[in-house]
Amino acid sequence: MTSLDTNKASMPPSQSNQVLLRPIDMTERAPQARRYEVIEAIRANREHTPSIHQIVDPKDSVLSIRSFSLWYSKSQALHKVSLEIARGRVTALIGPSGCGKSTLLRSVNRLNDLIDGVRVDGSMNVSGQSVYGPGVDVIDLRKRVGMVFQKPNPFPTSIFENVVYRLRIDGVRSRSTLRDACESALRSAALWDEVKDRLDQSAMGLSGGQQQRLCIARAIVADPALLLLDEPCSALDPIATLRIEELIREISRRYTVLIVTHNMQQAARVSDATAFMYLGRLVEYGPTRAIFQVPKLPETEDYVSGRFG
Ligand code: ADP
Repeated sequence: MTSLDTNKASMPPSQSNQVLLRPIDMTERAPQARRYEVIEAIRANREHTPSIHQIVDPKDSVLSIRSFSLWYSKSQALHKVSLEIARGRVTALIGPSGCGKSTLLRSVNRLNDLIDGVRVDGSMNVSGQSVYGPGVDVIDLRKRVGMVFQKPNPFPTSIFENVVYRLRIDGVRSRSTLRDACESALRSAALWDEVKDRLDQSAMGLSGGQQQRLCIARAIVADPALLLLDEPCSALDPIATLRIEELIREISRRYTVLIVTHNMQQAARVSDATAFMYLGRLVEYGPTRAIFQVPKLPETEDYVSGRFG
């Protein structure tokens, strides 16, 4: 075992992750010369063993996914995925389009329940509490698991009401409590200075990047155990994207983040751990530095360097 794959303490601060992406050297072994044994097994629907680096001590796990499968009617989108997500870290889900990243993310706060014909098997726990067990209160689950989507989706109300929405649902009435919570969430979302003088104005007047930071403020106001981000920058320009990426690094000091991204540079920049998925299966999971620099599988190496997938 190398020092890179021992434990979470060895995971590097991601501010330095910019160096992770190697330029493609076309003189390296050609892709067709490499055997993708795991990918071949997956394509042939044979059992495969994902490569899991030892990165998460189970007592540091916020989200525990055990042999989780999901079907959209007859079509199986997730196949026995097992993953432990570390507390206070950013974990990226990567893989080719259609490999099940969003399905897995949406399963964590049971958004897939809303789709007819969805069936699941296996288990998930957030902070030790079952996600799919009998009698789970889905409203309560969604309080503990915040989510931000690809397209910013502020409510057509004021900035203030957007941020405190969750607290109002909980019955918080005290104006000073709501004001303090609003300020704290907006500061955490790096938006306070830009909007503090217009909290009563419509959120719809904000720029796309500001709206997405508002959605992050709305998601963290109730102090979730886990924050799910589904390609949060895909509708944003490069400057707004950079601000959100900085924000993700910043909020990971207080929150655990699970992010879906199709952008390798983004995964390398913002995450501490990376899980590579293919056709609904987990292929390799480890510290981002290891996944990008010394992955165990040739398919992972070729995927993150753009030579496969
Ligand atoms: P990714 O996020 O990696 O692009 P998705 O999770 O969106 O992948 O999709 C995984 C698989 O599930 C794909 O084959 C996709 O077509 C299928 N899928 C996604 N959403 C639905 C749905 N609502 N109904 C049926 N199939 C779906």
